[in-house]
Amino acid sequence: MDLHLHGRRILITGASSGIGLATATMLAGEGARLALCARDEPRLRAATAHLAKITDVVTASCDVTHKPSVERFVSEAVDRLGGLDSVVCNAGRSLMSTLDETSDDEIRTEFDLKIFGALNVVRATRKALASSDSGSIVIVNAILSRQPESRLAITAAARAGLLNLSRSLANDLAAEHIRVNSVLLGLIDTGQWQRRYADSDTELDFEEWSADIAADRGISLGRFGTAEELAFPITTMLSPLSSYITGASLDVGGGVHRYV
Ligand code: NDP
Repeated sequence: MDLHLHGRRILITGASSGIGLATATMLAGEGARLALCARDEPRLRAATAHLAKITDVVTASCDVTHKPSVERFVSEAVDRLGGLDSVVCNAGRSLMSTLDETSDDEIRTEFDLKIFGALNVVRATRKALASSDSGSIVIVNAILSRQPESRLAITAAARAGLLNLSRSLANDLAAEHIRVNSVLLGLIDTGQWQRRYADSDTELDFEEWSADIAADRGISLGRFGTAEELAFPITTMLSPLSSYITGASLDVGGGVHRYV
């Protein structure tokens, strides 16, 4: 099936590993031209070198919480790709910490990352997306935004704010024919979980360790998801064929959500 993504100019934040990298790889396979960022540019370049062999790839070091840095990256992307059609706001991490364990500064940092990490990018790309015949944004968020957990209390609250904001953005940007949708993740086997596994003192291998967590969290499918299993719904939401979908959120969590 042709997803009509060939030649589309797509910017992805946090593209050096996990979901961002898997999405960049899938989109490159569809013939999209890419602008990719992460804070550690050498790592980003190394991770995406294979993509530069099959499509145009612009890479830059950019911290999404730093507005001038985002504006520089977007400006370079627009210049080098000749505009933008889509954006994936993906960069970030989760703060594994309960309310009582978290300092005020850590709470501010988490809200800054979740809210401005997306808003800076949306604001900087809005004009370019409005000039596209199929402007679209996908915001990578989490099921936690609707279903908080004590051990991730601050992250969950910040994500709830981001989900609510995403809905407002969908309303506001519709007049410019820009669609805004969210994917809500469950537990996905990426750098974040590999780091937690490495930091744990378990004697289990990753598959056993993650299966125990999946059982504890009540994931219906009994396992973590893969980055590729996220890349596909993100790719289809970006496709111009999804032209009547905006303000939507899609759960991709193997059935971890408890709401209907
Ligand atoms: P990874 O750790 O594998 O990748 C995160 C990517 O984001 C890296 O490229 C990292 O590169 C980049 N990044 C992190 N902070 C910033 C920043 N401030 N500015 C720019 N780039 C940044 O994580 P995932 O693929 O798992 O995560 C992708 C998104 O999905 C994140 O927003 C995460 O919170 C969310 N998510 C993931 C879940 C999971 O189970 N994996 C669950 C729920 C949500 P660098 O460090 O060089 O900047």
